[in-house]
Amino acid sequence: MQVTRKTFDEVMVPNYAPSDIIPVRGQGSRLWDQQGKEYLDLACGIAVTGLGHCHPKLVAALTEQANQLWHLSNVMTNEPALKLASTLVDKTFADRVFFCNSGAEANEAAFKLARKHASAKYGPHKHQIIAFYNAFHGRTLFTVSVGGQAKYTQGFEPLPGGITHLPYNDVEALRAAVGEQTCAVVLEPMQGEGGLTPATPEFIKTARELCDQHNALLIFDEVQTGNGRTGTLFAYEQFGVTPDVLSTAKGLGGGFPLGAMLATKEAAASLAFGTHGSTYGGNPLACAVGHASLEELSSAALLANVRARSEQLREGLLGIGQRTGLLTGVRGMGLLIGAPVAEAWKGKAKELVNAGLRHGVWTLVAGPDVLRVAPPLNISEADLAEGLRRLEAGCSELVAA
Ligand SMILES: *Cc1c(COP(=O)(O)O)cnc(C)c1O
Repeated sequence: MQVTRKTFDEVMVPNYAPSDIIPVRGQGSRLWDQQGKEYLDLACGIAVTGLGHCHPKLVAALTEQANQLWHLSNVMTNEPALKLASTLVDKTFADRVFFCNSGAEANEAAFKLARKHASAKYGPHKHQIIAFYNAFHGRTLFTVSVGGQAKYTQGFEPLPGGITHLPYNDVEALRAAVGEQTCAVVLEPMQGEGGLTPATPEFIKTARELCDQHNALLIFDEVQTGNGRTGTLFAYEQFGVTPDVLSTAKGLGGGFPLGAMLATKEAAASLAFGTHGSTYGGNPLACAVGHASLEELSSAALLANVRARSEQLREGLLGIGQRTGLLTGVRGMGLLIGAPVAEAWKGKAKELVNAGLRHGVWTLVAGPDVLRVAPPLNISEADLAEGLRRLEAGCSELVAA
């Protein structure tokens, strides 16, 4: 069957507007499209394929499991899920793990846990979830409601209630809002979709203190910042603050759908038998890949590469900004870096992405004004340099046009 980009408009719901390019093969940091054109992948399918495409250890884990056992449901547990959960417990603050298939589902579980925890221990009045403007937590009705971007909830009302939004990094607003009615404070240690804004250490520390003071759970959404992306296995390690609950997905499965909610033993106890579930969550295929992926992502050599390539990427983007005048600086952590576009290009970050694609490099936006670069965590110095050269060629062309 011949399929092209035109087929998309004929058979798919129009909620996406994908590029004209259809990649058909990937290897390491590179992709090839239907016409055989090569791209350096500095996007990783939105910070997902952290070990690049078709990593031999992930391919081996997936094919081995594919020949053994695919699915059981939660009526029976399975070895890959137990191994992955044990590894997550070993390597993080968490004592307990719940598996699901996406970031939104991991957050849905976290928010439901927070409500259940507070209502069981303190009563139903304690149901306020405190969240932040520009946050992104997924696209289910509960997660768009907790997320702080009105464009994602418009037209879907009535929305779930009991959610308060505050400005991110505003310590005073946080102090004023958290109280006896609060069941959870949920935040991304660095806002991803919202434009690559890291939390200030004071903001994170204050959130922890206030949650302790008012018996609320501190939930970190590390769907995007987790799994080595920021240079430590999870970003919270760099703030020296531990959450009660953490959601993750994206990089965990390296491209295979896999999400997880991590929790302390105390918090986890609230999701008692029968209170929550997922048919595919903890699926053997996903967990076998996740286990192989986590072993690689937590290696000292890989995390050292993230930090070294982060410096290279920051310098490279600053250089492109200085030479073309298109970018005004860099921000972010590890290999999740944002470069705000110059005043004249406000609202047009997507044009930079398209120019890069014409020159064989794939990057992303984070909102309309920020170019986002999220390369594979194991990318070589030479491949990253080549990707930056191609991006600069695209930017120079835009400026000249
Ligand atoms: C991508 C993302 C999500 C949603 O993940 P899905 O797998 O698309 O449901 C949630 N939170 C953050 C911080 C994300 O970046």
